[in-house]
Amino acid sequence: MTRPPVSARLGTTRFVTDTIRHIDPSQLRAGSPAARAVIAVCPAGVYREHGEDVVADDAACLECGACLAVVEEGLRWTYPRGGQGVSFRQG
Ligand code: SF4
Repeated sequence: MTRPPVSARLGTTRFVTDTIRHIDPSQLRAGSPAARAVIAVCPAGVYREHGEDVVADDAACLECGACLAVVEEGLRWTYPRGGQGVSFRQG
């Protein structure tokens, strides 16, 4: 049996956007090592610099935890509430 490519399998991923934000990067400053780290490591492109701030598109988060692994402080991240967030359909 041939397995579909990763892009096709990720295309079946379902997102339910929580009305309460689960990512707060407001303590990160654009251009800082921490900001560069989260932008570089996030596979979903959730973070971007906006002026002197760092902003996050919570709805695209894959809940992989990589951003938490590269920043010691300045980032608040929790899982979305139950039933919200990402649902992977195919491993
Ligand atoms: S948990 Fe993963 S996908 Fe979500 S913001 Fe962090 S690095 Fe990006």
